[in-house]
Amino acid sequence: MLQADTVLDIFKRVGALLEGHFRLTSGLHSPGYLQCALVLQHPAEAQACGAAIADRVRGLAPHVVLSPALGGIVIGHEVARALGVRAIFAERQDGVLTLRRGFTLAPGERVLVVEDVVTTGGSTRETIEVARAAGGQVVGAASIIDRSGGKTDGHGLDVPYHALASVAFPTYQPDACPLCASGLPVVKPGSRA
Ligand SMILES: [Zn+2]
Repeated sequence: MLQADTVLDIFKRVGALLEGHFRLTSGLHSPGYLQCALVLQHPAEAQACGAAIADRVRGLAPHVVLSPALGGIVIGHEVARALGVRAIFAERQDGVLTLRRGFTLAPGERVLVVEDVVTTGGSTRETIEVARAAGGQVVGAASIIDRSGGKTDGHGLDVPYHALASVAFPTYQPDACPLCASGLPVVKPGSRA
């Protein structure tokens, strides 16, 4: 089984562990960022991460993996491959996360929500609500990285949550960010080459 150290070693090896001044999707600022796409661009690494997550969640007996686009799609598909179930995704339409493209859930279908990174749990909770609104039974959530460092109590999720690795970069509200105070320009990860 892929261990947490090994997962972070992969991130370091492919240059997916970034240091600087970043604005996270949550709106918080941080000196560190893990760019999962740089790991997932390698199909062998993506498959290994997917298999490792699948090992941790198999006991939840999910019937389908649901991921939020775009970040969750590749890893969601790999987890589903390892579990032998289907993979669907939710995407934003007019700002609201929704199932499109004919994706549906059967009533009571057992859903596992999979993302690349969980920081505040906001998008995870939103994806869980999408599944429930579509009639699914959410049995758990999982991600490659727990960006909170495991400090939040399950991110306030009301389902079991599993991550391959936990990291604890500090995060700051923009108006209390020492990096902003020092005049270092803030970068939105993924917006630079
Ligand atoms: Zn800042």
